[in-house]
Amino acid sequence: MAVSIKIPSPLRRFTEGESVVEVNGQTVEEALENLIGQFSELAPQLYNEKGELRNFVNLYVRGEDIRYLDAMATKIKDGDEVMIIPSIAGGGETLSGKAEVATTFDRDEYLRYSRHFSLPEIGLGGQRKLKEASVLIIGAGGLGSPASIYLAAVGVGHIGLVDYDVVELSNLQRQILYTSAEIGKPKLTIAKQRLQALNPNVEITTYAESLSSANAVSLFRNYDIILDGTDNFPTRYLVNDVCVFQGKPNVYGSIFRFDGQVSLFEAKEGPCYRCLYEEPPPPGLVPSCAEGGVLGVLPSVVGSLQATETIKWITGAGQTLIGRLLLFDALAMTFREVKLQKNPDCVVCGENPTITEPIDYEGFCGVSGLEEMVTVPELSVQKVKQKLDSGENHLILDVREKWEWDIAHIKEALFIPMNAIPSRLDELDPSREIVVHCKEGPRAIAMAEYLIKQGFPDVKNMTGGIKKWTIEVDPSLNLY
Ligand SMILES: [Zn+2]
Repeated sequence: MAVSIKIPSPLRRFTEGESVVEVNGQTVEEALENLIGQFSELAPQLYNEKGELRNFVNLYVRGEDIRYLDAMATKIKDGDEVMIIPSIAGGGETLSGKAEVATTFDRDEYLRYSRHFSLPEIGLGGQRKLKEASVLIIGAGGLGSPASIYLAAVGVGHIGLVDYDVVELSNLQRQILYTSAEIGKPKLTIAKQRLQALNPNVEITTYAESLSSANAVSLFRNYDIILDGTDNFPTRYLVNDVCVFQGKPNVYGSIFRFDGQVSLFEAKEGPCYRCLYEEPPPPGLVPSCAEGGVLGVLPSVVGSLQATETIKWITGAGQTLIGRLLLFDALAMTFREVKLQKNPDCVVCGENPTITEPIDYEGFCGVSGLEEMVTVPELSVQKVKQKLDSGENHLILDVREKWEWDIAHIKEALFIPMNAIPSRLDELDPSREIVVHCKEGPRAIAMAEYLIKQGFPDVKNMTGGIKKWTIEVDPSLNLY
């Protein structure tokens, strides 16, 4: 019976660095004996003087603890996976015996990074690489917060941050760089202060601009690796494409509701984001984070994983996520992974790429090439209010979700969530002017386009959605 034994990182120095070892055996006991036959130094790590399994070592077969199966006599089948999971208390080996002279660190840094120096996979050499490295983080929001905090903490020499937003109250549920006192201030001003206070040895460069096809190429040039902390498709595709053009690794992370995804795209060795999804969905079809919701802690899980991949790529420690997509489900509390293939016909990293320079993505997004674009007329919130007050026979159509309606709505509006519109067209009177709104605009524009294509002659978008309405017309409503 050939089974594979997964070796945890603390024990890999006894297996010549191997993380998975193939062995034969009918039971867990036989498999471990064969493992120790190959790597004798493992024996005292796994067994005590009496020859019993040490109580801080747990063994799992097919994902189950053998203590709840037949212990060491648990039968194993061909292809099974045996996992060794020791308890990990933190800390690590001492630095004794590894007195390398490193002139690039001062006294403060020796202490600051001592828990890294004692990791053989990082050590002085890896810490030096971190100090010499530069990472550009796109977005200083949910993902960029934990990623930048950890990358500054571990001593990445140069961190660049791209973001043009100001801190909003609704950010604080997940964007851990900021506090309530900083609402209304530019994110990057706060982020730089916070990261510099955490680690003054790190150089922080901020770019208070939105990433675009005009600036991406020159910005990326100054950095070794790009960490994608964006929340929208145009920027995500731009980051991917420019990374492919410049041969730079792209640490990808995305979040939605309770689910996260992480991968490392490095087109020289593996697939890029477009190998998975050739084109972005049209605007309005996929809700943004604000509209779709996101569990407060989720970005920190995913952003921390991105920071981990960045550190591993820089130091060369372990196996990266190149060619693998890690899926995190916070509700089920599971991590799964799927293999990613490089697409030889990929439009950007394939053999005959058709995309060879950054595209104007905002325009690109709305044009699928098949459907004709329609222009949706706009109506200001003040105009809508005037029409309401004058008793004009127009219909305000709210296409948001029920939870949003519950927080705030215009009392004269007809509420039909966007997904239900196609089946409820008969509730709309084509002889009336229809003013569609959502929270800020993208969903309303998409639904107005849809209604126009269905033959409704007079459909408009209420510019700025209920957010603008609340700010400029009816401040008694809740903002969200
Ligand atoms: Zn590709």
